[in-house]
Amino acid sequence: MTRVFVSKRIVFPDAVRSGCLVTEGNVISDILPLDARASFAPGILVEDFGNDFILPGVVDTHVHINEPGRTEWEGFGTATRAAARGGITTLVDMPLNCIPATVSAAALAEKVRACENKIYVDCGFYGGIVPGNLSSIEPMVDAGVLGFKSFMTYSGVDEFPRLEEADMRLALPFMAKRSIPWLMHAELSESDADVTGLDPRSFLTFMNSRPRKWENDAVDLLVRLASEADVRFHVVHLSSSDAIPVLAAARSRNLRISAETCHHYLTFAAEEIPDGRTEFKCAPPIREKENQQKLWEGLKNGSIDFVVSDHSPCTPGLKLAEEGNFMRAWGGIAGLQLGLSIFFTESKGRGIDMVRMCDWLCRKPADFVGLRQKGRIAKGCDADFVIWDEARSFKVRPEVLEHRHPVTPYMDRELQGVVKKTYLRGRPVYENGNFFGPYGSPLLRK
Ligand SMILES: [Zn+2]
Repeated sequence: MTRVFVSKRIVFPDAVRSGCLVTEGNVISDILPLDARASFAPGILVEDFGNDFILPGVVDTHVHINEPGRTEWEGFGTATRAAARGGITTLVDMPLNCIPATVSAAALAEKVRACENKIYVDCGFYGGIVPGNLSSIEPMVDAGVLGFKSFMTYSGVDEFPRLEEADMRLALPFMAKRSIPWLMHAELSESDADVTGLDPRSFLTFMNSRPRKWENDAVDLLVRLASEADVRFHVVHLSSSDAIPVLAAARSRNLRISAETCHHYLTFAAEEIPDGRTEFKCAPPIREKENQQKLWEGLKNGSIDFVVSDHSPCTPGLKLAEEGNFMRAWGGIAGLQLGLSIFFTESKGRGIDMVRMCDWLCRKPADFVGLRQKGRIAKGCDADFVIWDEARSFKVRPEVLEHRHPVTPYMDRELQGVVKKTYLRGRPVYENGNFFGPYGSPLLRK
């Protein structure tokens, strides 16, 4: 079926222009100038969005869905509804916090089964590399994972143990054969810093318990390993700005090491987090205002490649809201649905235009996981669109959140920019509080 999407402001990879997007089934079949609008045959559905932006669907390559096994934390249905409402049309699920952890082809098959007939947007999957599962790497690649994830420190769950340097070296030859990315939780530590005698309700106690040094040391080790073997390392959720020049120097030596940061590191500052507010706890921690400023600079100068949510929820009880003990509460920030509006709000006044925003939120993360049909408005690509009213704002309240649990550090914030409608491969999946579908598909690497 042919459909036409018309707007005065479409965000293409090179510029914002008016035009008519012609779609045939799942894909964009043609891109025509605005004045072609009058020439379509009667019977072809033409939707004119006027001055509203048409953006490419957001691609969030760092999401913890927790199903199967910990579906009471978050599940495929709730997470992908949140995604659709937030303008995300593709997400990639992390291999831990679900049970079983995705560390074998059999576990991946369980994941894919668990999402069947539940997902409102397209979902890809990472496999995990943990001590002892080297023989599962090839079968997981063949089964279609988009990348692998490992931890250099305790992951928070016992079923996903960390890799030591010796384990990483064992896995290098397996990963060097592939062009597939190896994502690293880059904090290098064997045990937590000693905080006895310090106030566990103070955010600064928690921040200092996971110092920048952990991240800096981990990035140093990854750079060393990347210079020894031709692997594609990727630093997830970079928080320490100290590592930015190290990453830039590695890149200038043509080492394959990329990095992402998250909306919360670009939005919040440690000095401003009230005591006891454990919804701000994640690892590595949110750091000082001065650090946040450098992360923005690292993003703008290309040392940081793109921005993701690292949506990592749990049941409200595990956040210990009443006790407010940062050292004991579960670490992980929930905010999947809000990424686009948060980034748009925070990027104002920083000289960032819509094309660059969509580079960091759509095109670059899609390229990172090899999904070149996603994340851009171009002929032949999937017709994943967001109809975006940048002039309207909304307040984050529990009733607008689709996540399983409305616990988020963004609560009560006024965010600029509203997703009016989301299309997945040419079909509407969300409009004005209503959902259509589920029409999402698992995205397995061929
Ligand atoms: Zn994560």
